[in-house]
Formats: sequence, structure tokens, C-alpha cells
Amino acid sequence: MAVELYNQGGHIIVSFSDLVEGDEGVQSNQFLVVIDNHAAIIDPGGDLTYTRLHMALSKYINVKDLDYIFASHQDPDIVASINRWLTGTNCKLVCPEVWSRFIPHFSRVGKTTSRIISIPDRGMDVPLGRHHLKAIPAHFLHSEGNFQFYDPISKILFSGDMGANLGPGDYDKPVKSLDEIMPYMEGFHKRYMNGNKVCRYWVKMVRTLDVQWIVPQHGRSFIGKKIVAEFLNWVEQLECGVDLMTQDDYRVS
Ligand code: FE
Repeated sequence: MAVELYNQGGHIIVSFSDLVEGDEGVQSNQFLVVIDNHAAIIDPGGDLTYTRLHMALSKYINVKDLDYIFASHQDPDIVASINRWLTGTNCKLVCPEVWSRFIPHFSRVGKTTSRIISIPDRGMDVPLGRHHLKAIPAHFLHSEGNFQFYDPISKILFSGDMGANLGPGDYDKPVKSLDEIMPYMEGFHKRYMNGNKVCRYWVKMVRTLDVQWIVPQHGRSFIGKKIVAEFLNWVEQLECGVDLMTQDDYRVS
């Protein structure tokens, strides 16, 4: 189902949360941002989502004229379909500089030439219509080169894997309390996020932004200052990744 997260004055944000079904792969959300008839997709996914997303987008935009694909990092559920998007549209790919030499492996020879915009480690503003989206650093959360995308107008933070909660459903219903999703969120973050040090840096940075809504790539979103603050507090104290590794995890069995 397509859900409009924002729609004001030619600035439209749509979330698609049910394009991957059943045992096909991990549930994931894709996002369309349109400003003044310029359009970007955030983390379109792989082959599992390509055809359904293409069809769903055509209700909102002329897909051929898509301006950008934003890729938060290099994983298959993020951007494995890039070859098809580059073939079927005139878009440019916006991705972390760290991964811009690797992502062409998803596509045919020559297909990515002059169509990749590399985001430097410190992040950047990407113009879209009369506004811009901010690419903000989330390195090692979880990928070594990782960005999240913030829209200063709607105040939505597209947080990628940060906040991912892999519950059984209700993907279009925002989270009311962290307790209800903790069983689907905690284990993922402990394994996939790289360590508390970077969690704390990230939280400190995000607190400087006016965030009304955190929308992760998997599962349900966090709307309103109260739950956003609770989520940031949880991430700040989270021990994860290398914090939890011991010699026991590195044994030849
Ligand atoms: Fe990933």
C-alpha cells in the first residue's frame, strides 16, 4: 500500500511498505520524494521490488524522468536493482563515495559512467526542485560508508537500517511505544550496528536537527518528538557490534 507521509504545495512523500511479500525477502520500505515535479527514490531495493515499485511510482510521476536514486549504502535490499533503474529512467545514482566503485558491479559495463554522484564522507545537500535533501553521515550504522536522508521541510529523517524493526505487520502504523517493537528491533541492532561509540556520535548529531518523524527502511516508523527522543535515548546507550564480541565468537569449531 502506498501511504502519503507528506503532501503540501507540490512537495509529496510516499512510502511503499508491502512490495516484498511473504518469504521473498526481508520486508522493506521504499520512499518517493517529489518536489516541484522533480523526483527521487530512496533505497529502491533489488529485483524483488523493481517491477512493483515501477508500477506504483507511475501513479505519481513519469518514471522515465526520475531525477535520482538515493542509496544509503551498498546492500542488495538497498540498490541491487540499480541496473534496471539506470536502463529504464534518466536518473542519477546518489551513493556513498566509499561504495561508488563497488556499486557498478550491480550493473552492466559502462552503464554507470557519468551517472553516479558520490556523497563525500561528511555528507552533502542534494538539490531537488526548490528545496534539497540532506545526506547526513551514519557510517558504521551499519555499513562502513552509510548515509541517511533528511528533508528539512517535512522534518522527516529517512534513517535506513537505524530503527529497523522486523515485526510481523502493521507497517503503516507508527510505533506508539518502544516496548511494542523491542522484540523485533533490539536483536537486529545488537548484531548489525557496529558499536556504541558511533551510536552516541550519531545521536548527538541527530539531536541538532528538528526531526518530527524517523522512518526506517524496515518496519514501522516513529512519529512525534516524544517517541523520537525515546528512540534516540535508547540508541545512545545501546551496546552493539564489536562491543559485544568476545574471544568466544572467534573460535574454530
Ligand atoms: Fe544493509
